[in-house]
Amino acid sequence: MKIRTATVQKRTENEVIFDTHPEISLDLSHVEDALKKGYNRPFLLVDSNIIRNKIRRFKAAMPRVHPHYAAKANPDSRVLKTLIEEGSGFEIASIAELDLLISLGVPAAEIYYSNPMKSRQYLEYAASKGVEWYVLDSVEELRKIVSVKPDAKLYLRIDTPNIGSDWPLAGKFGTHLADIKAIINEAVSLNADLAGVTFHVGSQCRNPQNWRVGIERARNVFADMRQAGLRPRLLNIGGGYPVRHVKPIPSIEVIADVINAAIADLPEEIRIMAEPGRYLVSDSACFVCRVVGTATRNGKRWMYWDAGIFGGIIEVSEGLRYEILTNRTGSSTPWSIAGPTCDSVDVLMHDELLPEDIQEGDFIFIPNAGAYTTAYASNFNGFPLPDVMVL
Ligand SMILES: *Cc1c(COP(=O)(O)O)cnc(C)c1O
Repeated sequence: MKIRTATVQKRTENEVIFDTHPEISLDLSHVEDALKKGYNRPFLLVDSNIIRNKIRRFKAAMPRVHPHYAAKANPDSRVLKTLIEEGSGFEIASIAELDLLISLGVPAAEIYYSNPMKSRQYLEYAASKGVEWYVLDSVEELRKIVSVKPDAKLYLRIDTPNIGSDWPLAGKFGTHLADIKAIINEAVSLNADLAGVTFHVGSQCRNPQNWRVGIERARNVFADMRQAGLRPRLLNIGGGYPVRHVKPIPSIEVIADVINAAIADLPEEIRIMAEPGRYLVSDSACFVCRVVGTATRNGKRWMYWDAGIFGGIIEVSEGLRYEILTNRTGSSTPWSIAGPTCDSVDVLMHDELLPEDIQEGDFIFIPNAGAYTTAYASNFNGFPLPDVMVL
């Protein structure tokens, strides 16, 4: 069997020549080897060496920025262990993520609680386990955290542009500029240690200028904090670093040029960290599923995969386009593609150009699918979760 590139949305040579650094994906011969042992459900095959390469590349590009992996992108314990071995810190949203990391030996002090909305019960638990740093983006959350842990170290999530991000996050979280002073004043009156600023440029951000604007806003907030008598010590530049699918991306080195210039004259006492999720794990893995059957209705070709929106391929619902590989060689025809469940939401794509001779039983390969796939999958309608295999 030879896996070939069937998609015509494949990157063009013109896009590739702008790459300052070639991106590396899992070698598909590993997928062929895995399939020789049989197939009983969709799976994600992860090459941990690629994860190591990605975090080393991230650190080399931005020597002053400590990476804290966003566990939600892929919380598989083998993925986490690989990152622990490479010296990564972590960012969490829940106590399940906290417990998992603590069970793998991560010191609580290296785990940053970056979810701007935390239940009191979760805060009490995290405080009891030794988590030191907590994010907030409102006066109410500030009061809540301080009432549970008066000596918490706090960082303020501010609003920043998400222009050019495939997955904008602005709106749900982030203090509006007009509300920052009130939060600073409240921190001072509560005697709280408001000591940092963070922002998130939106996931799969293809516009490096968003980080520059975020860092400039953070500097202004630091100045306001100092003026109010606070002692800023943390700049957290969040996640959003993009990976290759079918659209061109700026490499991490190009993004780093912008970030390094923007942080160059920040004083030593400011610790600078980032929260890459997708960037560290996506390229390391190929998602494999299978065609359950095909159908022609009113002249339209449909194919149904054994993994759909509920089986891990959910980011297509917001417009992310994956490269899709098969081992068929027929000429391209537009297909509608759906998952195996009976829910009408479970439709992945329309008019996707794929070989006309794809049939029941064929395998489908999605490269660079190590982030936000298996982490999202559910058992809805009785279909199994995808397996995760790690090399
Ligand atoms: C999801 C998330 C991240 C990671 O985002 P990526 O786009 O995967 O890099 C980082 N920080 C916070 C607070 C997040 O919610």
